[in-house]
Amino acid sequence: MIYCSRCLLPETCETLTFDAQGVCSVCRQVERKQEAIDWSERGQRLDRIIEEYRGKHDYDCLVPFSGGKDSTFTLWYLVKIKKLKPLVVRFDHGFLRPTVQDNSLRTFRTLGVDVIHFTPNWQVVRKLMFESLRRRGDFCWHCHTGIFSYPMWVALRHDVPLILWGEPSAEYASFYSYDEEEEVDERRFNLIVNLGINAEDMLGMLDDSISGYPVTARDLKPYTYPPAAELRAKGVKSVPLGSFIPWDVKRQVEVIKRELDWRGDEVEGVPPEYDYEKIECFMQGVRDYLKYLKRGFGRTAHVCSIDIRNRRLDRATGADLVAKYDGVRPAALDLFLEFLGLDEERFMQLVEPHVVAPHAMPSCEDCNRRRPNRTVWDFEQWPRIAGDPVKDKAASGAQRKAGNE
Ligand SMILES: [Zn+2]
Repeated sequence: MIYCSRCLLPETCETLTFDAQGVCSVCRQVERKQEAIDWSERGQRLDRIIEEYRGKHDYDCLVPFSGGKDSTFTLWYLVKIKKLKPLVVRFDHGFLRPTVQDNSLRTFRTLGVDVIHFTPNWQVVRKLMFESLRRRGDFCWHCHTGIFSYPMWVALRHDVPLILWGEPSAEYASFYSYDEEEEVDERRFNLIVNLGINAEDMLGMLDDSISGYPVTARDLKPYTYPPAAELRAKGVKSVPLGSFIPWDVKRQVEVIKRELDWRGDEVEGVPPEYDYEKIECFMQGVRDYLKYLKRGFGRTAHVCSIDIRNRRLDRATGADLVAKYDGVRPAALDLFLEFLGLDEERFMQLVEPHVVAPHAMPSCEDCNRRRPNRTVWDFEQWPRIAGDPVKDKAASGAQRKAGNE
């Protein structure tokens, strides 16, 4: 595998390209962010956008909020620095961890904001997880789509046309560069978010009933993007804050820890010094492990690469951390398998078609050799409510075929 000569990302990383010096496109984007972008001009652009909307509706803006470091910083910045009155919208994917819940409540109370929570049907979520794992080797379709589409519906219903998100995608991938004005719109939704499956397609793929009633388009509406004409008619503007201020995760985490008493947490597969990274979701360890199986790198390569780009870590130290933490089989995998009614061998079979060459997937046996010596502190509190077995149509099809032969 070819690795970036500066950071720790390999060629299997989505959208990554390398220049003649062997430096990856994300490293180059971040270099531009640090050296070539006129951030004071960007800041003025943000102010012009804000003033266009301030005071004209019940809320000045809408802030989609997970409770992680980026959305918490965004909310703090807009309320405290820009003096805006936001409507906070929280799409609860069902896997939020206790520390994040406590952090969020403290943040809402300290800042004084109105909040709308939405939790989609758990049984529908289970089916969506299985189907997107099978189709794309990524079980998070329900979360990716819901987080980006549901707040847009709320923006329409509550007539709050300015939506402000957190980090720009140019910080982590090369779908957009820092030179483009990234709109968090339907184009981006189809490009980055929905894995090339829209809700209509998904409906056709799902098995047909949950708890005895048929799944229909209504059940998947939270995962659809609102019609472009309606968004245009309302004058909706939806942009990431990180296009207008230079995004610096480490510095921003210091701010929210100091100002909001935001607390970090341990995350499976992540070194303890990165206690601020992806602390929201019970299934994060499984998600990162899945990435390792498919692409040969995990969360530690990602966080160390960010520090290397910011000259806070040398490459050799980062490489040691990656060797120690990436690819360790998370304890949460047992929970995940139980939750979807899969055994580990079937799980590996489902992942296999999605492996990105030249990476080769390790065997189930190899993976099981590397397990953590303890679980994270809240492991026993994680939800274990399953339900009807998810119909593994692919497996029964394969068995039928094998039986015929
Ligand atoms: Zn790089």
